[in-house]
Amino acid sequence: MRSVDTVVVGLGVMGASTLYVLASRGLAPLGLEQYWTGHPLGSSHGESRIIRQAYYEHPDYVPLVREAWAAWRQVERISGWPLLTETGGLMVGRPNSALVRGALLSATQHLLPHERLDAAAIMRRFPAFRLDPDDVGVYEPSAGVLMAERATEALVAEARRQGAAVHLGQRVRQVVPDGSGVVVHTDHGPLRARSAVVAAGPWTPALLPDWHVPLTVERQAVTWFRAQEPRWFEPDRFPVYMREEVGGDTFYGFPSLDAATVKLARHHGGALTTPDRVARHVGDEDLAVARHFAARTFPGLLPTVAQSTVCLYTDTPDRHFVVGPLGPETPQIVVLAGFSGHGFKFGPAIGRVAADLLMTPGSGPALFRPDRFVGA
Ligand SMILES: Cc1cc2nc3c(=O)[nH]c(=O)nc-3n(C[C@H](O)[C@H](O)[C@H](O)COP(=O)(O)OP(=O)(O)OC[C@H]3O[C@@H](n4cnc5c(N)ncnc54)[C@H](O)[C@@H]3O)c2cc1C
Repeated sequence: MRSVDTVVVGLGVMGASTLYVLASRGLAPLGLEQYWTGHPLGSSHGESRIIRQAYYEHPDYVPLVREAWAAWRQVERISGWPLLTETGGLMVGRPNSALVRGALLSATQHLLPHERLDAAAIMRRFPAFRLDPDDVGVYEPSAGVLMAERATEALVAEARRQGAAVHLGQRVRQVVPDGSGVVVHTDHGPLRARSAVVAAGPWTPALLPDWHVPLTVERQAVTWFRAQEPRWFEPDRFPVYMREEVGGDTFYGFPSLDAATVKLARHHGGALTTPDRVARHVGDEDLAVARHFAARTFPGLLPTVAQSTVCLYTDTPDRHFVVGPLGPETPQIVVLAGFSGHGFKFGPAIGRVAADLLMTPGSGPALFRPDRFVGA
């Protein structure tokens, strides 16, 4: 049986990042991907991702997103591919919304530059927005847009350049502990490895059916609308944003990256599904939800849909990530999963945490430990 050092299963942004970090440490990892890098069937496609630092989900993410920001700039430098555009970021909602309160908590706790704005001030500064008089916003300058497929491809290309092997179109059927090592069963036969990192996104429940972490997969529709006044949506006068509406529905969106269309979507609220069963077509119901939000918030957007796609979230019950060993007796298998719709921005930092976990079992942020679900 062929032997390798570390196998990385799945080359979405998390597997690609891990492969990149392992290769940059002088190891010779092998990445296995069932499709191709940048494919549109998982969670890492769709042109763009928000990166923001005043992290409403929990202040413990802030050091990690700062690390990731610096790492993305490093990948840009060595690959020569522009990946991150700083646009500023705006979190909007009522003063007591989870989004506004959480963003303020992280910003104040970590001394992040930010401004509190009322609705009138937001609409003066960013004329594309129409808000309710009771809305407020937290604006942070250090937020922006990551180019999704390009970033994943840059990570894989750099990993390869630094000594990683990559096999595309190769499906892994099972990852099995074997003494202190691992046997990875693929469509092309078994491989023996010293360690493995499983980064299979929404396919994780199928690959690890007996794992104790309760993951669910959620369908997410994304829409690009045409703009009546595209200049209002240009990156130098329109930030990345999230808006929590009364009742809790949250939407997010981006500046126009092509001077014509504007991408937006609802965060969560999608149907539970699997990657094999999911309806890949964006239908009338999806468009009605997006159009309703667009009409309420951006009078300058036309209802004309220029483009749409379906993407998948893999959620944990608490919506915090799962980054850690498969089990207490198997530190040689690290699982990266449950990124719950907010993982992309952290890619290279999660890759670093995964590489550290293989060297030093038990390391890594406590918030992401898989054993928090044992007996839950
Ligand atoms: C619509 C949408 C918008 C989002 N917006 C943001 C955002 O603005 N900011 C942000 O930070 N995050 C955002 N996210 C979340 C972020 O994109 C995900 O957390 C991240 O992409 C997850 O990456 P992954 O590598 O875990 O999964 P994936 O990208 O799904 O990668 C898993 C890979 O594993 C491969 N694979 C699976 N099983 C096997 C197997 N058996 N053998 C071989 N290969 C296998 C798959 O083919 C796939 O390529 C968004 C997600 C979606 C869907």
